[in-house]
Amino acid sequence: MAQVSLNNVRKVYPNGFEAVKPASFRIEDGEFVVLVGPSGCGKSTMLRMIAGLEDISDGALTIGDRVVNDVDPADRDIAMVFQNYALYPHMTVAKNIGYGLKNRKIPAADIAAKVQEAATMLNLTDYLDRKPSQLSGGQRQRVAMGRAIVRDPSLFLFDEPLSNLDAKLRNQMRIEIKALQRRLGVTSVYVTHDQVEAMTMADRIIVMNAGRIEQIGTPAEVYHSP
Ligand code: ADP
Ligand code: ADP
Repeated sequence: MAQVSLNNVRKVYPNGFEAVKPASFRIEDGEFVVLVGPSGCGKSTMLRMIAGLEDISDGALTIGDRVVNDVDPADRDIAMVFQNYALYPHMTVAKNIGYGLKNRKIPAADIAAKVQEAATMLNLTDYLDRKPSQLSGGQRQRVAMGRAIVRDPSLFLFDEPLSNLDAKLRNQMRIEIKALQRRLGVTSVYVTHDQVEAMTMADRIIVMNAGRIEQIGTPAEVYHSP
């Protein structure tokens, strides 16, 4: 688990556009924080800066006890789940999940055990030999979750993970993701434009608008404030 803190973190794209205005907040160990706001408000930019996929123009970003401004994504001990699943189409479910452990010196038997454990947690044990194209959208997203959790990251990042699913599946996956996060206790930052997701999943919500943080609070504080 890790604490995340931003101190006046700002993003100006090379074309001069300020996508994130100086932002400061702290996410506690084990907390599930949802970044919500309309399309184009800067949520994805914020998440990608935390992930290390986007440079920070100004300010300081701390994950755990390390300032990670210039630390490689691979060395940040994070796992990210994307809207488009980002699975390898030519690999089986088992290989896709195990891919999260590649480049770590882990014995094959241990990888197999971790893949099995993740598959059990995610109800994927019957699908380990299939290719992603032979799975439903919900199952694909579970595989992406599996690839994330086998790495035991100290931070989960989610970028609109449910946007490609139909309403019924979205409801179900919301509950599954939240339950898994609770069970693992991993600090999580979850980006969505869906207020229902924010309301039902978040410990705290960060509301963004036009590159600015407008509000930070519990779902009750954010959605029932006068
Ligand atoms: P959100 O995730 O809330 O939809 P984004 O973080 O993707 O918002 O984008 C925030 C703003 O930054 C948008 O106006 C978008 O057009 C702009 N933007 C995103 N990427 C770039 C880029 N590479 N160069 C310039 N502007 C960008
Ligand atoms: P595209 O949308 O361009 O077809 P994909 O959806 O396949 O690309 O992948 C999106 C991004 O995720 C790419 O940058 C790709 O390198 C990355 N990616 C794809 N599969 C994996 C994986 N199994 N593990 C990590 N990153 C992946």
